[in-house]
Amino acid sequence: MGILVELNLFGRDYEQEMRPLIKAFLPGADFEVSHYEAEDEAMRTVVSRDSDPLLLHANAGNDFSFCMLLMEDWFRIRIYKKGELIGSADADNIDSERKAYRNRVAREVYKILEKEVGHGLPWGILTGVRPTKLIYEMLCEGRSEEDIRNAMRSEYLCSDRKTETGIVIAKREKEILEEIDYKNGYSIYIGIPFCPTTCAYCSFTSYPLAKFGHLAGDYLDALTKEIQFLGTCLPGKRLTTVYIGGGTPTALNETQLERLLQTVRDNLPMEQVIEYTVEAGRPDSVTERKLRLLKDYGVSRISINPQTMQQRTLDLIGRRHTAEQIVTAFQLARACGHDNINMDIIIGLTGEGPDDVSYTLSEIEKLNPDNLTVHTLALKRAARLTTEKERYEGMEATGVSEMLERTIAFAAEHNYRPYYLYRQKNMAENLENVGYARPGTEGIYNILIMEEKQTILAAGAGAMSKFVFPDEDRIERVENVKSLTDYIARVDEMIGRKREFLTNCYRQEC
Ligand code: SF4
Repeated sequence: MGILVELNLFGRDYEQEMRPLIKAFLPGADFEVSHYEAEDEAMRTVVSRDSDPLLLHANAGNDFSFCMLLMEDWFRIRIYKKGELIGSADADNIDSERKAYRNRVAREVYKILEKEVGHGLPWGILTGVRPTKLIYEMLCEGRSEEDIRNAMRSEYLCSDRKTETGIVIAKREKEILEEIDYKNGYSIYIGIPFCPTTCAYCSFTSYPLAKFGHLAGDYLDALTKEIQFLGTCLPGKRLTTVYIGGGTPTALNETQLERLLQTVRDNLPMEQVIEYTVEAGRPDSVTERKLRLLKDYGVSRISINPQTMQQRTLDLIGRRHTAEQIVTAFQLARACGHDNINMDIIIGLTGEGPDDVSYTLSEIEKLNPDNLTVHTLALKRAARLTTEKERYEGMEATGVSEMLERTIAFAAEHNYRPYYLYRQKNMAENLENVGYARPGTEGIYNILIMEEKQTILAAGAGAMSKFVFPDEDRIERVENVKSLTDYIARVDEMIGRKREFLTNCYRQEC
């Protein structure tokens, strides 16, 4: 049983904000949440400012109790450990604007927990996916770097180190985007949810070939319909990038892969596309013919992902391929003319320490890819590493921060510049994922999606279309069903969802 955290919220409902912050300090916490509003009896008893009835709501049986009275322009916070008060904060006459208020509350909770656990968090109170987006926006507002540093330090309690990383990346993103006409464009994502086997850390929409491969033909039939529709959606705009991901697109057999590439060629306005990426992540899915097909159909960027070059780790995480296969697939891709290849690695993998990461980097150095993406392991609820955690007990990675340092040093020494960054829930040591690239080889799609700068139409099981309305500072999402069989059966409905959204938003028929 993990740490039991009781979260009692009176007044404003900040559950979504508080949960990830508390969890970052107390990993593995299980929550019991109660929210009371004005009409609730419990709320009426605590709202008096003359006594401390919040105390009544702390259950000594729980490891931690957070009792938070969050009124329009004032708040009271009491945090208890096993019924003993470990910290409190009261504030009056504060800025009631939602964001400012939320940050103020988060800072108070942060300071109490920092004292309790004995350390802070690298990104301070920023628990969201896109910390660089915040910095990017500040740059666009014309704020100076010094001003941004101050805001990151005082408003978000972000460490100087992470702020510097964020500034470098946001500046690079801005530089790259300023070179392209992204404002009048859109991008397309196509998801292929098949993989040779399922990796132990995987939480994506992914179906192992052995069990689901017989559905690939039906899937492509459905996908073709959706791709045909996407090609007609935004006639006044220019298609900027196309990204085929998954799963593992190259898990399709050669005939199926060619069919997919031909469908894209026949149905999407590819004339002005500046980047066409296909993930060839698993080396056990790659053949020379597939790599040649990708090249022949104009794919400009591929990804071959080792995650680690340590064979014992590959075996442990269910990759079912050898380190040699990674080398062979990469060399084959180069021989087929692929001149922009990304490699993904993961730090914090089961059983690994910093020296394993150094070994992986030394093997990657020999291959000399154009991009290197460094992920920090995130323990997702649905992944086998979580659902079968007894199997991996005692094999947790050690020294993840040190691993990250080694990747940063490696990137700097080999002229890989960081150009995008994102975070996920439950990442080891609250770190981040960073994309590095040799100048001129950056994955534009990655920046567009991370900074939410462009509408991305998406096709396939589990794919989510994101409509960006920059003038209104608004983003709307339209989701596809995740299940493979549901997608095949209901593709017309998925198309209908997008058609309806587009008709309502853009007043257009398509
Ligand atoms: S290759 Fe990627 S998508 Fe496929 S199972 Fe592994 S982690 Fe999941």
